Amino acid sequence: MKNLRLMKVLTALSIVAAPLPELHQHALANTASQGTVIADDLNVRAQADMSSKIVGQLHQGDTVEIIDSKNNNWDQIKLPNNQTGWVYNAWLAQTQNIGATVEAFVLRVHENPNLESKVVGRLTKGTKITIQAEQTGWAKIVSSSGVEGWVSENYIRKDTPVDSAPPSKKEDLSQGSKPLVDPSIQEPAQNGELPLKGKIIVLDAGHGGKDDGATSITGTHEKSLTLPTVQTVEQKLKDAGAIVYMTRNDDTYIPLNQRSGLANQIHADAFISFHYNWSQDSSANGLTSFYYQKSNSPLASDILNEVVKTTGLKNDGAQFDDLYVLRNNSQPSTLIELGFLSNKQDDSTLESPAFRNQVAQGVYQGLLTYFSNK
Ligand SMILES: [Zn+2]
Repeated sequence: MKNLRLMKVLTALSIVAAPLPELHQHALANTASQGTVIADDLNVRAQADMSSKIVGQLHQGDTVEIIDSKNNNWDQIKLPNNQTGWVYNAWLAQTQNIGATVEAFVLRVHENPNLESKVVGRLTKGTKITIQAEQTGWAKIVSSSGVEGWVSENYIRKDTPVDSAPPSKKEDLSQGSKPLVDPSIQEPAQNGELPLKGKIIVLDAGHGGKDDGATSITGTHEKSLTLPTVQTVEQKLKDAGAIVYMTRNDDTYIPLNQRSGLANQIHADAFISFHYNWSQDSSANGLTSFYYQKSNSPLASDILNEVVKTTGLKNDGAQFDDLYVLRNNSQPSTLIELGFLSNKQDDSTLESPAFRNQVAQGVYQGLLTYFSNK
């Protein structure tokens, strides 16, 4: 946290991030298709590797031909000059033109791929639509009557392709996981199957790479504690049906603008940054969470209060603070400090795997409270 405050706005780097699982799925590997860039800037690299040489750059809205996919995280694309390169495909929405039919009694069409965005139209059951792009359970569509926008993929049925190769195993799974459509249900979050189903959550493990964060009295770096904590939370939230994105999934340095930028790009339902606190006063102890906009105070306090319950540490309250990842976040966001690395008592509990499970349970409960009161 100390270091976070000291950080200045970092140089505007293009958006290249640590692995972000499941952000993007291809209908079929090796099928030529088009992709639309959804990041401000997207580096094109020589190889499917974040450390590989940058050979070009794409910008938001650019459309490129996808010629191959690798490990579900990288797409090989063709640049306008016919040169090829690889891009991290979290930032590429696959463009398609697949026919589909509305299955819900009434299906809301949103301006953006999230439930909170403006409703720009309503389609009735049986309406024919064309899917232009897909992202995280949402489809960008245009209807036969000209309505354009994003709809939840849970309530549409894709036409069966007649002349394509057999679907991959992955596609089988995604098809099979589609819930049966109850005509009275319009939105996935309300169908009661899994408590956090369809909620898009960004988990941000504080610090990383060259930025160690604070150091505990036993010599552990903050960055090495935030990562396993966030990974434990990730599993808990995924089990509850949430779509979880990680700003980092290994010991990588990620600039602050990319952390908040991820939440903004994908219109996350919640962004939670995880840190451990440090003070020169070794008696300082307890948990604190922060918000920037007043409207995010409930998110900050709901999560804090539940994590206090599960961990048993002291509640130092949710507070305003001018933190970069919160100030530059257009989505509901909070930063939680999970105890003091400089306090003997706090540190003796917070470095244990048991503590991470308690945090995960608390964050989960806090999100349930938060979403049920929204
Ligand atoms: Zn920190």
